[in-house]
Amino acid sequence: HMKYGVGEKLKCPTCEYTCASRSMLNSHLKKHSVDKPFLCETCGSSYKFASLLKKHFKKIR
Ligand SMILES: [Zn+2]
Ligand SMILES: [Zn+2]
Repeated sequence: HMKYGVGEKLKCPTCEYTCASRSMLNSHLKKHSVDKPFLCETCGSSYKFASLLKKHFKKIR
């Protein structure tokens, strides 16, 4: 059966961020503001809608 502990990956529900510990995930979650939950992991810009973040990605490509 599944065993939790070493090597467990926690995933951010808002973006693709993953980390190994809950305290790391908690500090990451603080980066997502309530108003702008869609965060660009490349430059740190945050957006209110996923469509705006997509538009941003197109711009920096
Ligand atoms: Zn995240
Ligand atoms: Zn960006």
